Amino acid sequence: CGIVGCVLKNRKVAPILLESIGKLEYRGYDSVGISTVDQNGIHLKKGSGKIKEVNEKIDLGELPGTTGIAHVRWATHGIPSTENSHPHTDNEGNISVVHNGIIENFSEIRESLEKEGYIFKSQTDTEIIPILIEKNMNKGLNLEDAVNESLKIIKGSYAIGVISKDNPNEIIGARNDSPLIIGVGDGDYFIASDATAIINHTKNVIYVDNGELVILNSEGVVVKDSKGNVVDKDIDVIDWDA
Ligand code: GLU
Repeated sequence: CGIVGCVLKNRKVAPILLESIGKLEYRGYDSVGISTVDQNGIHLKKGSGKIKEVNEKIDLGELPGTTGIAHVRWATHGIPSTENSHPHTDNEGNISVVHNGIIENFSEIRESLEKEGYIFKSQTDTEIIPILIEKNMNKGLNLEDAVNESLKIIKGSYAIGVISKDNPNEIIGARNDSPLIIGVGDGDYFIASDATAIINHTKNVIYVDNGELVILNSEGVVVKDSKGNVVDKDIDVIDWDA
């Protein structure tokens, strides 16, 4: 159970995500997946098993784009399987989400989304997140506002990373009771469950607090509180090596 996200200036992101997510193996996991985004939309590879085994089968580092998210899963809702592995997408395949934690009210949200005609492919609590974001974007909200709106009805613990076809150089992150940090590199920006994942790339980190929303894009990093106000965050320098 761990997440990583990177917006890179001019390098392919999938190999970096593969290396970084491997650093979170110690947290325990049963499945792994990577999703990237470029001008052609969302790309995704995932499967259950050890990173090495899954990678030998489907070559996780072979995905286009410079922005992406990755996940190692510790199954809480739904058995370890390809369908239940993260990232999870919306119905149209335009939004991709990684999530650590447990959504407590997922079954009632899922039921009401199913009544509206949305289709679920997995048994996870997580899959309601991309579908809620899709529903909010279909109402005309941009990615950031759609994520914010979706989180308002979600109860439970989460650290999430979200990418969308509409924003090929952007990741939206958020947390509540699951860990999340930001890494600030030289034109490269990261989110991760902990600093071990990204310390090879930057030692400048920002600790995200509960209820905060993170916007990473080629211009930099912005953190907002739940009311949408920009929060002035300190950058800490990590003084240990991986
Ligand atoms: N609850 C989610 C699932 O079972 C996320 C688990 C995790 O934190 O890895 O898929």
